[in-house]
Amino acid sequence: MKGYAQTGTPSAEELLFLSLGGAGEIGMNLNLFGHDGAWLMVDLGITFGDDETPGIDIIMPDPTFIEERADLLAGLVLTHAHEDHIGAVPYLWRRLKCPIYATPFTASILRRKLEEVNLHKKAVITEIPLSGRFDVGPFNIELITLTHSIPEPNACVIRTAAGTVMHTGDWKLDPDPKVGATTDEAALIRVGEEGVLAMTCDSTNVFVAGHSGSESDVRDSLRETTARFENRVVIACFASNVARLESAAHAALENDRSVALVGRSLWRFYEAAMENGYLTDIPRFLTPKEASDIPRDKILLICTGSQGEPRSALARIARGEHRDVHLDPGDAVIFSSRVIPGNEKSIGRLQNRLTELGVDMVTTQDDESVHVSGHPACDELIQMYQWIRPQVAVPVHGELRHLRAHAALAKECQVPQSCVAPNGTLLRLAPGPATVIDEVFTGRLALDGNRLISLGSSVMRERRGLMENGSAVVTLVVDRAGDLHADPQIATQGVFDQETDPDLVDGMTDAVMDALEDMPAKSRRMDDAVCEAVRIGLRRWIKAICGKRPKTKVHLVRI
Ligand SMILES: [Zn+2]
Ligand SMILES: [Zn+2]
Repeated sequence: MKGYAQTGTPSAEELLFLSLGGAGEIGMNLNLFGHDGAWLMVDLGITFGDDETPGIDIIMPDPTFIEERADLLAGLVLTHAHEDHIGAVPYLWRRLKCPIYATPFTASILRRKLEEVNLHKKAVITEIPLSGRFDVGPFNIELITLTHSIPEPNACVIRTAAGTVMHTGDWKLDPDPKVGATTDEAALIRVGEEGVLAMTCDSTNVFVAGHSGSESDVRDSLRETTARFENRVVIACFASNVARLESAAHAALENDRSVALVGRSLWRFYEAAMENGYLTDIPRFLTPKEASDIPRDKILLICTGSQGEPRSALARIARGEHRDVHLDPGDAVIFSSRVIPGNEKSIGRLQNRLTELGVDMVTTQDDESVHVSGHPACDELIQMYQWIRPQVAVPVHGELRHLRAHAALAKECQVPQSCVAPNGTLLRLAPGPATVIDEVFTGRLALDGNRLISLGSSVMRERRGLMENGSAVVTLVVDRAGDLHADPQIATQGVFDQETDPDLVDGMTDAVMDALEDMPAKSRRMDDAVCEAVRIGLRRWIKAICGKRPKTKVHLVRI
């Protein structure tokens, strides 16, 4: 039998799995399944920049592997509308040009994103009803409704002639999710009985014992917590958590308050929810402007910015920069969200500002029940393995430590084989046993302004270097013999304050002139040699004075 290893194309007997993003990190999911001359993509998400990526907000998987095989890409199925699952579609679809499949709410959210980049007429989204079954190339796909922290999370049961894989997407087992149906247990049991070769499953909360809890607990808790306060109440949560918006609305109603949404993304999700029949049983949300006329004991504000994002509504309110909303001593902010690792500092800054304003705060540290996670804790993972009973467990949606712990858990659940397959590991699931057959190129692309650049590129290295050490630029005007025709012009950035330290300018000028004078006459006739000698001389001088090695450049004008 000739397979991928010989031909570079998955054969009819083979079922392959490959992550290009999301296995080895939490965020930017991109999963590929290969069978019978075709590839199926499940999810195409982004992650966010941090201190390590100056000037970069959005990062996504490098799709080169599948871009080179775009003619074999049968389609893209989206499990749900979180950014780490759909966020890269507007940026990468032009490179892939494949049909897109999603349930109605996810399609509504994606359509808004595609409109922003003028792709809505080109990138065709086929809407699949909940629990729908459809073919994409040689893959037959059944969606199974699960619960998560956004409407319409779907597991994909991918049936092929070489076997069945269940890709869970993000999920938890919430018996009372408040918005949308609960987990379709009957379908999961049926699929398990039918026989599943492999399950690619969410690892996010594998280190959390017990159960993730229910949105219904949060609903009770938000109502009771709101009742404790007499002035303005702000609930900070993720805009995509539509059930949480409804819970906040109930907390307001039952405490005789009106509710306003503050933050553009909240309005986007509200509109998409209404389009799909969610949030239609509660009174219309008010705009921040409408809320500004309401007495402070009669209003509840739902805000974005629970992670301390500086441009978000809550951060602007805390800085006193919001046009319609301000907070006074005695007002309260309930953080109905968890701290996403990496955001501790920005959340700390936000909470310190709110404290300065005299605002009371409730976080999950004070009261665990103001938030529940959308991902399965151990008991839920065990339950899923009991239902599906796959032959092979392939943990995804986690850092390496999560994947390993999840593989061990699957083993305890009697799964015969567990594979830790970080991004780029091409796994052959069938014909079995599951085997690593290749390591393919993976990388990260960053949205830099309006271009995508490789995160490993010289642009990013230079930018980090500039941030850490600053820069110096020298302009030299010399004649053919290499003698100076004017004083060297030296400009530094982020090194010295040249205005308050004029001596340093003289010192740098001397260093440049010395470097030039020390050169043999012959070398001084060569541009490259002059530039390099001056660059090294100046850099050495700055290093001796201030211990820094700025990025140093020499412009040579030969007259
Ligand atoms: Zn996710
Ligand atoms: Zn999610």
